[in-house]
Amino acid sequence: MIYKDYGRTGKKVSAIGFGGMRFPKDYSIEEGAKVVRRASELGINYFDTAPFYCDDRSEDIMGEAFKAMPNPFYVSTKSGMGSDPDEDAVRRRIEKSLKRFGVEKINFHHMWCVMNLDHYRKVIAKGGPYWGALKAKEEGLIEHIVVSTHATGKEIATIMKEGYFEGVTLGYNIINFPYRQEGIQAAHEAGLGVVTMNPLSGGLIPQNQNYFSFLKEHENESVMQAALRFNAAHEAITVALAGMGTIEEVEHNVKAVENLEILSEGKIKEVKAKLQGDMNQLCTTCQYCKKCPKDIDIPKFMNLYNMKVLKGIDGVKESYANMTKNNAFKNDKTMPIDCIACGKCEALCTQHLDIIKRLEWLDKNIINVSV
Ligand code: SF4
Ligand code: SF4
Repeated sequence: MIYKDYGRTGKKVSAIGFGGMRFPKDYSIEEGAKVVRRASELGINYFDTAPFYCDDRSEDIMGEAFKAMPNPFYVSTKSGMGSDPDEDAVRRRIEKSLKRFGVEKINFHHMWCVMNLDHYRKVIAKGGPYWGALKAKEEGLIEHIVVSTHATGKEIATIMKEGYFEGVTLGYNIINFPYRQEGIQAAHEAGLGVVTMNPLSGGLIPQNQNYFSFLKEHENESVMQAALRFNAAHEAITVALAGMGTIEEVEHNVKAVENLEILSEGKIKEVKAKLQGDMNQLCTTCQYCKKCPKDIDIPKFMNLYNMKVLKGIDGVKESYANMTKNNAFKNDKTMPIDCIACGKCEALCTQHLDIIKRLEWLDKNIINVSV
């Protein structure tokens, strides 16, 4: 395992980290703990979890594992604004996590899921969540205050420069990396730790292995390993988190970073160049377009349309059926048919996609023929 410096914290962390959001539903706490301990045996020392992951069992599973970890480890967890975004609420959440982990301090505590600059300003406002975390830090309950965010690369760069945090966790993968690069680079240049999540683009990569097979560098490497290596090998990325639920997944992921060579700028450019063409037609789910006056969940529908580019109409039909089965549209008050073609989203789209035509196509060929 390769270890990297987490910013200026003085901590050396493993190039891949254990994401604790994938424990199978039917696993007992002890079965989950065995998976965590296997990761520790294989050299992973960064363990990330959060309240509510895996039906709120993930922190308990980690706590069970921590009773007998084979190697030293760092724990990372999170607390959000919640419905009571004040200092005391954050303090209560930290105490609860500590109890579940059975440890004296949390090494990396995230201000959770900062969506944009407005949200960030609320987190750091006097008397808000950040100040609760700071107090907990002063009392030795947490070591480092970091942030997890879905903001744009530019916004992340601003957040990093303001200096409230010692590191950042953000989604980054082969599909969305051009839009996150700026934030990653800014954090790295500011001497902060950078942890990436979602290396498999929410399942898009495993579901389309043929398409992404060009990422492979060795015959016996899987596409998923190659995608994880792409993150782990980036010199500005400290930890590439991967969700792991089974011992097999742990072993598979650890193999991905055997003999890891740090990616040069040239190699990143080369990958970017290969991703042109069809890739230019893919929605990256970057969320920039989420300003629809009709409140249509555009990234979700454009992500569905991705299947047309990758697999053709049958791929879209299959995905739509699965999404329907999983109640993915349950909270949607509007659908593609409600688009009024105002063009606002297309002006904002980072991929310059013809969103209006795509919504129309989905409505005519998939949604209104499937029901
Ligand atoms: S063009 Fe349609 S989908 Fe796009 S912002 Fe306007 S109403 Fe929403
Ligand atoms: S449609 Fe464009 S702006 Fe919207 S999420 Fe997809 S790529 Fe981003």
